[in-house]
Amino acid sequence: EAFNANVAAADALNAFIVKTPEIALKAAALVDADRAAGKDLGVMGGVPIGMKDLFATRGVQTTAASHILEGFTPEYESTVSHNLWSAGATMLGKLNLDQFAMGSSNETSYFGNVTSPWRKAGGGNEAMSPGGSSGGSSTAVAARLAPAATGTDTGGSIRQPAAFAGICGIKPTYGRCSRWGVVAFASSLDQAGPMARTVRDCAIMLGAMAGFDPKDSTSLDEPVPDWEAALNADLKGKRVGIAREYRMDGMDAEIEASWEQGKQMLRDAGAEIVDVSLPHTKYALPGYYIIAPAEASSNLARYDGVRYGLRDLPEGAGLQDMYAATRAAGFGDEVKRRVLIGTYVLSAGFYDAYYTQAQKVRALVARDFERAWEHCDLILAPTTPSASFPLGSKDDDPIGMYLNDVFAVPASLAGLPAMSVPVDVNADGLPLGLQIIGKPLDEQAVLDAGLALE
Ligand code: GLN
Repeated sequence: EAFNANVAAADALNAFIVKTPEIALKAAALVDADRAAGKDLGVMGGVPIGMKDLFATRGVQTTAASHILEGFTPEYESTVSHNLWSAGATMLGKLNLDQFAMGSSNETSYFGNVTSPWRKAGGGNEAMSPGGSSGGSSTAVAARLAPAATGTDTGGSIRQPAAFAGICGIKPTYGRCSRWGVVAFASSLDQAGPMARTVRDCAIMLGAMAGFDPKDSTSLDEPVPDWEAALNADLKGKRVGIAREYRMDGMDAEIEASWEQGKQMLRDAGAEIVDVSLPHTKYALPGYYIIAPAEASSNLARYDGVRYGLRDLPEGAGLQDMYAATRAAGFGDEVKRRVLIGTYVLSAGFYDAYYTQAQKVRALVARDFERAWEHCDLILAPTTPSASFPLGSKDDDPIGMYLNDVFAVPASLAGLPAMSVPVDVNADGLPLGLQIIGKPLDEQAVLDAGLALE
């Protein structure tokens, strides 16, 4: 009830696309009854969460923040949300995001921008970006509208908004959480994960979300450890790598300072700090912005005006006209930009020059990490090149927006677990996050280092 009231009172932040107070209340009543009967409530028994509106929820509108899916009510439940309900969680509503999860500021949603609850100290009331694409999730948690929320991360969409909002968020190893029932953006990169106030909450929630799912062909058939039970902030014996290529020219002094601070905190926790090299880092961002749009252009072909949501059927129009009119009206500008880039880099004349080349970059980036693991167990890096920026400040600068993902995409291309943890605030009082990248399937080490940074 308290969370429902907060959600209702915070409409100005625009974090929710759909609120489901009745679902939360019904679940609360069931939990009360189960508790009275002495039943096991599950690891998330009675915890009301926000669900990024990229997860299909049976009977509740699912839009990916796009006009083209407006009014689409799935008949099925995503595996991740199903797992969460099975663990006792309940839903406060569906959270706003960048349209089809494409963006880094939550400004591409058809349902309007999400506003961060943070303001610059002495900066008046200038509205700041909650990050993206999981901006509704970061705002809901940071503004205490929900104790936790789901996110998805294709190239940073859990970690970057978590950093902007001063909360924790982990993208597990690719394949840990099922993609079944999650609206697809770039299938070889898409991964779900939790966003919450503390590392411990993330460990609990990830445990509830993860697990093998035969309905997702890339799901990992690996046991899900009890990450929370094993949490341990003592890092004795762990080697933490600092990649020299992440020290970029012109990096903000405040980012550099928070990175130094993080190193010291991990050292204090017993870790040894070592220098490592990830030589192909500078190709990761351009590689990502070819591979992700290429896969998106293919995934988004299904929105044809027939199967889902919106249909624009002009008077006397044929099938092609219906496709064109529906997609023209249904997709936002950023989505169209991605479809154009994606179809271009996949077209016969350019495939080798762009797409094949980007796949090679991806392999090299993954190999860089494999070689680094010979020298360290974890890598510590900034999550983002800057703190949150004012909404609207990058409107005419799509490349500047893409640059925000520079530290996030290498771990995505390599499929590695990576977490953002808040470490400090800058001179404006805005949160700064650090990122911990781990070996495949070693979420435990990532969470442990996160705990040491908290
Ligand atoms: N900002 C990145 C993009 O726009 C990442 C998005 C994501 O991880 N979903 O592609």
